[in-house]
Amino acid sequence: MSRHKSRSIGQRSLSPETLMMGYGYDPALSEGSIKAPIFQTSTFVFRSAEDGKRFFEVAYGLREKDPEEALGLIYSRINNPNLEILEDRLAVWDGADKALVFSSGMAAISTTILALSRPNDVVVYTAPAYGGTEYLFDRILPRMGVQTVSVADCGEGEGLNRAILEAAGTAKSRGGRLAAVYVETPANPTNQLIDLEAAAAAIKALDQAEPPPLVVDNTFLGPLWQKPLEHGADLILYSLTKYVGGHSDLIAGACLGRADLMGRVAEMRTICGTITDAHTAWLLTRSLETLHIRMERSQQNAVELVSRLRGHPKIEAVLDAGGAESSPAQQAVFARQCSGPGSTFSIRLRGGEAEAFRMLNALQLFKLAVSLGGTESLASHPSSTTHSDYTPEAKARCGIGDNLVRLSVGIENVEDLHADLMQALEAV
Ligand code: PLP
Repeated sequence: MSRHKSRSIGQRSLSPETLMMGYGYDPALSEGSIKAPIFQTSTFVFRSAEDGKRFFEVAYGLREKDPEEALGLIYSRINNPNLEILEDRLAVWDGADKALVFSSGMAAISTTILALSRPNDVVVYTAPAYGGTEYLFDRILPRMGVQTVSVADCGEGEGLNRAILEAAGTAKSRGGRLAAVYVETPANPTNQLIDLEAAAAAIKALDQAEPPPLVVDNTFLGPLWQKPLEHGADLILYSLTKYVGGHSDLIAGACLGRADLMGRVAEMRTICGTITDAHTAWLLTRSLETLHIRMERSQQNAVELVSRLRGHPKIEAVLDAGGAESSPAQQAVFARQCSGPGSTFSIRLRGGEAEAFRMLNALQLFKLAVSLGGTESLASHPSSTTHSDYTPEAKARCGIGDNLVRLSVGIENVEDLHADLMQALEAV
């Protein structure tokens, strides 16, 4: 193996944070440049017509790649060095066979689901989920003949497992398959956790020739605090716009996982053209170098703020992943599945929209914006923004009330953030 793809020194396996500095990049190929240049190009020159033919055979799946053969560079809708470096490094964190990067989190989610499903299939998904994801499953997939089943309240008991079994039966009766089980955990914006090992076991128990992949949106805790592939997931999805990008200055997404499934996702990405560009990939590679420090610091801040907000007279509940106010079942899932609660949590204020808006309008450091996972702290009102397309019944079922405020905690001084929250709560 070439030195730039080595993951060990002697007996020592190198940690992801170390590998983020150089893994997958050979300076000798770029005039010794310590950082990869931005390969701002649409197409790549083949050394010979035979090379062009061989590269396309692999890219279009006309023949299997030899184990040692790298996919030749063809065209930036198919691959690009900046993307390949980024994909190699992303795969390290989750222990995935392969990663693919997309132009947004939604591009990653929609391309992956398109790659997995076909008419008459059924897809099961957990609720709540990010509003765009809900829209895709609830409004768009059914137009293409894919039946979708939303499962709320699946943080407790057997609800999801039962839904998986029933959906497989429905799919059979439609002449289709259960094409995927899609899970967002922790869920945006309530931090509901889903037991991945239980879902994987329910899938395994199905009588279906090709079992449906367990697909997990790991945006809230990944890649540091939750590693779904270790708990039975087959594919992981990310909005890289959030923690991985981490500076609220780009939009991107990723899908990672098992090689056989990733081949189908790569085909769909090539044809739909949902890949990201070289400059965004370069920014993400730069962000990965500080990912662990940013996620550690913002989590430390959030844990401190959660402990001070709990019991505040204006607050009904604090919804942090697996936190003290969650059920014993949720806490047990957290203990098995997560190594930290991350830094995005919600609070339920005493009151409704008027109280929530008064707090949001009074904040000075927390910026009033959707999104999360950046260096700066953000606050939002899911019911009227990111989750506004949920029906009133769905909001009630999923616990997205008008009194819910979501906070994404950044890396500022925690005492400053605390002072801001306290003065905003006084305005409620
Ligand atoms: N998944 C989750 C959990 C999200 O919170 C979001 C966006 O907020 C997305 C996916 C969609 O990502 P993007 O905005 O990068 O398309």
